[in-house]
Amino acid sequence: MTDVRVGSPPTKRTLTWRGFRKRCSACGERDIWAGWGRPVERCPRCGLAFERIEGHFVGAVGLNTCVSFVVMFVVLIVSMILTAPEFDLRILLPVNVGAALGMATWFMPISKTLWTSFDIMMRPLQPDEVDWSVAGD
Ligand SMILES: [Zn+2]
Repeated sequence: MTDVRVGSPPTKRTLTWRGFRKRCSACGERDIWAGWGRPVERCPRCGLAFERIEGHFVGAVGLNTCVSFVVMFVVLIVSMILTAPEFDLRILLPVNVGAALGMATWFMPISKTLWTSFDIMMRPLQPDEVDWSVAGD
């Protein structure tokens, strides 16, 4: 990594877009996954450490929980409307549990990159944190 800043810091729009696409928030690299929802320690392109501080991904868990609850609530309301007036639990329960678990699993990697983007918005990248010749906008 170098202290010479070549790129400008990514904008909030760029950070958010990269987060939604499961890419490195600093440079946009896509090859950052060691497994489903498990990012490598550092971006192979710019060197950003994805766990910027200890406990960094607690925010991602919170974000994932909030999004999953919103989706589960919408699915619950729609499924109740569709099954009214019986509200058959044999249908409602598996549909809603499946929606909650499915959403939480699918959104997990996105929540991690999106949370890293939000974290960078709150605590901007430091000069020695990434290789600025490839990071930025
Ligand atoms: Zn990167």
